Parts: sequence; C-alpha cells; structure tokens
Amino acid sequence: MSEKILELKKEIVKTCLKLLEKDHVLGSAGNVSVRVREENEEHVLITPSGVNYTMMEPKDVLTLNMEGQVIEGERNPSVEKDLHLGIYKARDDVDAIIHAHSIYSTVLSTLKLSIPPIIEELIPYVGGEITCAEYGEAGSEELAQNVVESLGEKNAILLPNHGNLCCGSSLEGAFTVLEYLERGAKIYYMARIIKEPNVLPEDTVEFEKEVFEVFKESKKI
Ligand SMILES: [Zn+2]
Repeated sequence: MSEKILELKKEIVKTCLKLLEKDHVLGSAGNVSVRVREENEEHVLITPSGVNYTMMEPKDVLTLNMEGQVIEGERNPSVEKDLHLGIYKARDDVDAIIHAHSIYSTVLSTLKLSIPPIIEELIPYVGGEITCAEYGEAGSEELAQNVVESLGEKNAILLPNHGNLCCGSSLEGAFTVLEYLERGAKIYYMARIIKEPNVLPEDTVEFEKEVFEVFKESKKI
C-alpha cells in the first residue's frame, strides 16, 4: 500500500467516525469512497460492507479498480460500489463520495420531496434544487443508474426511502456538502410545518449557481 493510499484510507476511517458522531448514520450504515489518480491509473478506495465504523481500520478499506474488482483488501466492498463507480465515471470533477442516512434528508426522501432553492447558503455547495432520485433497491444497478442520471452536475441528491448522497473533489468537501444538505433539509422540513416556503428569486438562484461553478473549478468543495 503506498503512503498516499494509506493516508486516504485513514481519512476515510475518520470521515466514517464523523458520520457516527454527527448522527448521519448508525453502526456501519452508509458508505464512503475516494478516487485515487496515480500516473495513468485510477482506483477507488471504498468502505467495507457490514463493519461497524468504531471497529474499522484503514486496512479494512478496499481498493477497487474502475471495473469494481477488489485489488487490495480482505473484506467485501460496500454493496453500493456500483453507485460510487457510476458517479466517478460520469463526473470527472468528483473524487469523493459520501452516502448517509441523515434524519431530515431521509424524512424528505420517504415523501419523495425535492429541496427547492429556499436558502442562499445551500446553492453554492449543492448546485441548485436537490431532487430525489427514482426508487431502486439498495445495492441494485437500477438505483445506481437512477442516481447517476438524477444527480447530473450537482453535488447532492436524495435517495428515495433511504437517505442522501453527496460528492466533492475531496472527502472534506463532500462532508461539507453533506452538512449543508442536512441543514437545508431540516430548515425545509420545519418551514413546511407552517406552510410551503418561498423560493429565492430567480436572479439570486442564478448568481448562487455561478458561485457553485467557481467552487467546483477551484476545488473548494
Ligand atoms: Zn444506505
């Protein structure tokens, strides 16, 4: 294992512990991956299936080739590996993905609600309205396809009756997107208790989308 890969695997373990601490998941739920580009080769480092994050060590994190075959590691890779690989293949700007079961995102996903552009702080991180993908069973090719299609060029999406998925150019970036998404989902949920909230003016949404493009290009997220 190269030094670079070991460091990234350590970072994945830390990210999983943060997911537990911040109540985005329980136990071993959700999954985290990173794309590594070395010379002409690309690999994906991904969390194992069914290993509690409090027990997980860097060596438990698997290295896959872009076809999804395990090239390093003893565990079984996350059942959502095809979903992660599909996004990396469709999005050259994405090098880290986090899938979690955060409460408010999941509540909205069971109602198949999108989060409209209602607060300015959210758009630069996610890229606009956050839609809910079409249903597919966890780990299925159908879910992978639906999510890749619905995500488009944005950085976050809701997985129907399941949770959320966030991406970025680094794990830190993807985690920031997750925090903004879940905060936005909570605000939308609370506002809707009173009435359907107002969306931002179109000009503001367009401006914030430009900021999103700048963030993406500069790899801020
Ligand atoms: Zn899940």
